[in-house]
Amino acid sequence: MAGPTRTPTRTCVGCRKRAPAFELLRFVAVRAGDHLQLRPDPNRRLPGRGAHVHPDPACFAQAERRRAFGRALRFTGVADTGPLAEHLRAVSVPPGTNEDGASAPRPTSKVGRPT
Ligand SMILES: [Zn+2]
Repeated sequence: MAGPTRTPTRTCVGCRKRAPAFELLRFVAVRAGDHLQLRPDPNRRLPGRGAHVHPDPACFAQAERRRAFGRALRFTGVADTGPLAEHLRAVSVPPGTNEDGASAPRPTSKVGRPT
């Protein structure tokens, strides 16, 4: 498919496919105490080297398996992927989808996202 060339594209660190930047979630590695932490950056405001991944836990899992995070963000060792994983879980599950009708209603937490 020949897409419009002026849309900036980025490569997903999970599936390695190129996609328009706005379809991907940017994330950065920040130092948290004595380790690194991967933080989602939906507003693309955090400084530093960023990498991109589809907002899809499958892509996240692929990237984690291949240790693509370190390669994309140029760090060695292990980073805490918790905040990024959590963000992906939150955005990939449509609100109101309860797997087996569990009764606990989830408070809708508004992740500050621009329209
Ligand atoms: Zn992907």
